[in-house]
Amino acid sequence: MEKLALLGGKPARDKFLVFGAPDIREAEIKEVVATLKSGWLSTGPRVARFEEDFKSYIGCKHAIALNSCTAGLHLALEIAGIETGDEVITTPLTFTSTANVIIHKGATPIFADVERETGNIDPKEIKRKITKKTKAIIPVHLYGRPCRMDEIMKIAKENSLFVIEDAAHAVEVYYRNKKIGNIGDLTAFSFYATKNVVTGEGGMITTNNDEWARRLRVLRLHGLSKDAWKRYSAEGFTPYDILYPGYKYNMMDIQAALGIYQLKRVEKNLKIREKYFRMYNQAFTEIPEIETPSEEEHIRHARHLYTILLRLERLNCGRNQFAVALQAENIGIGIHFLALHLSSYYKKRFGFKRGDFPNAEYISDRTISLPLSTKLTEEDINDVIEAVRKVIRYYKR
Ligand SMILES: *Cc1c(COP(=O)(O)O)cnc(C)c1O
Repeated sequence: MEKLALLGGKPARDKFLVFGAPDIREAEIKEVVATLKSGWLSTGPRVARFEEDFKSYIGCKHAIALNSCTAGLHLALEIAGIETGDEVITTPLTFTSTANVIIHKGATPIFADVERETGNIDPKEIKRKITKKTKAIIPVHLYGRPCRMDEIMKIAKENSLFVIEDAAHAVEVYYRNKKIGNIGDLTAFSFYATKNVVTGEGGMITTNNDEWARRLRVLRLHGLSKDAWKRYSAEGFTPYDILYPGYKYNMMDIQAALGIYQLKRVEKNLKIREKYFRMYNQAFTEIPEIETPSEEEHIRHARHLYTILLRLERLNCGRNQFAVALQAENIGIGIHFLALHLSSYYKKRFGFKRGDFPNAEYISDRTISLPLSTKLTEEDINDVIEAVRKVIRYYKR
């Protein structure tokens, strides 16, 4: 048997393959340079244009650019009027910011377990967790697969709850015939460096409610009165007022310069992501030690992350050991996600323990994300497949 790189063997690949490498092309580099030369660096005309482009891509009424998705989730909770003592239901299988923002508002994150097959929040579990204090639900479209929004919206309506979607993985997603960004009350997207549309740091919040959109624009920039960024523009002096002690959550034109051209390629990139996703699926379905992602009808998956589950009962190693071995083969990997309720802070503060959310734990213990960036070539994908096969051959029982 081939010796693992971890044990001194030759790595499956010579050069380290970075996980989640951003795919930056000449068009956005030119636009960033033009922005720098324009002298307008912070929120300005390019942010306005990116918002217009994003709005028409999503097909929603309002898109407000921010400096992160986390900022979007935080502002959404503010719009929903979440206060100390309220409860907000979300998934334990997400990035920590989804739940952190609930704590920032003084509210309590209430986790509802996920579906074992999809990793998405289970509507039945949401129902079980509703109390008199529940004010909102934050579903997360995990890996780019939409949650069961029909059921979630029905539960929300019956119980007068806000629905705030964490669409950090879901720019391209449709649920049935509806584009994500138009279903819940407010939807937050991420343009972080590893996401499908990249501005380095950045985010967008969408809504079809005029009043909320107006407030979001004020909240994102210190609570200054409408279009305060224009106070330095050629349109002339406009005195501003402070309507609210708002936040510093605005996007820069330098970021929007990237976003405008990233968004132009999003549909083309999805085809590439779909191809790489299929290549992985085809290679791994025949390996009994690996469980591949299930396919679903009536949705469009953003193919943001390709995740496998290791069948640990068939392997002589744990997931972390497997991850270390793959990294030694020069394949960068990610873990999405370690179940939040088992992290130090959440355990200590809310008294969570192993066994509380069995499906989230099942996935958390077994998941590995493989590189899926559109910057990669088919050869890169084949290197990943070969490396996974090699590590499986070594550890299988
Ligand atoms: C990346 C991510 C976020 C945070 O996005 P930022 O733009 O970095 O704030 C939130 N939720 C999920 C599920 C994510 O993956």
